[in-house]
Amino acid sequence: MILGALEAGGTKMVCAVGDNQGNITDKVVIPTKTPEETMNSIIDYFQTKKIEGLGVGSFGPIDLNPKSETYGHILKSPKLAWNQYDIVGVLERALHIPVAIDTDVNSSVLGEVTYGCAKDLDPVVYITVGTGIGIGIYVNGHLLNGMLHPEGGHILITRHKDDVYHGKCPFHDNCFEGLASGPAIEERWNQKAEELAQKEEVWQLEAYYIAQAIVQYILILSPRKIILGGGVMHVSKLLPMIRSKVIKLLGGYLDTKELARIDKYIIPESLAGDQGILGCLELIRRKLSE
Ligand code: ADP
Ligand code: ZN
Repeated sequence: MILGALEAGGTKMVCAVGDNQGNITDKVVIPTKTPEETMNSIIDYFQTKKIEGLGVGSFGPIDLNPKSETYGHILKSPKLAWNQYDIVGVLERALHIPVAIDTDVNSSVLGEVTYGCAKDLDPVVYITVGTGIGIGIYVNGHLLNGMLHPEGGHILITRHKDDVYHGKCPFHDNCFEGLASGPAIEERWNQKAEELAQKEEVWQLEAYYIAQAIVQYILILSPRKIILGGGVMHVSKLLPMIRSKVIKLLGGYLDTKELARIDKYIIPESLAGDQGILGCLELIRRKLSE
């Protein structure tokens, strides 16, 4: 069965073709421009590929309620040109195939539970720390959606007593994304995150914020695995710092075999950047088999 996958991001669109067993046979990257320009390139790409369905993992917010009139639309977006854009409708009308959609981070967690390091585990949380911060949640065999979809990048966390940076989020003084995204790191330290690898205090602070968020996800969702992805996680010393701060912040309250082996519990993404694409293939595979 030939299936399509589209990972829709604010800077780039990754289009891929694969099958219902997670084999990716082709992949291209298209820069994100205006909706018209970008979608025409995407449609041109998929038109010749004989796909039977298309799975989309998109930046949000997205209307994921199948009963809603605006199902499959991008909602009020800071990427203004995409505001209210009917991404699913445009693809369905142009390609005449079923289209399934979820958030980019939900697609990533689905990729990891289907083909990666969280295979057959449930619940699982995937966190991306990049230009933005987002979380995907897999629970009871499904991706978690509800009133909207998880927005775990905007949970409120405690600012470090020595951190005077005002935060990058226009909505919140002290949310996770506002204090810990790549652009927040850059603005706080006046240097690109990529160039700060040697600065210990940068990563101690970053780990403090990421650990706080993870503690909340652990306490509320009781995940069996927590997976971290996104550009900021390329800093290799960050993950061990996060693990030890999570243990410290939990204060010994939880005593589980997972936390005893935290190096196997809080782990990096395992699919070499293809977790989102593989999740999109699984999204549409599931829809077609319903
Ligand atoms: P996006 O979130 O836009 O999909 P990424 O996940 O690559 O893209 O995240 C980009 C962010 O990650 C930028 O803010 C960048 O500064 C940061 N970043 C990328 N690579 C590194 C690195 N090696 N070290 C630290 N930060 C990085
Ligand atoms: Zn916020």
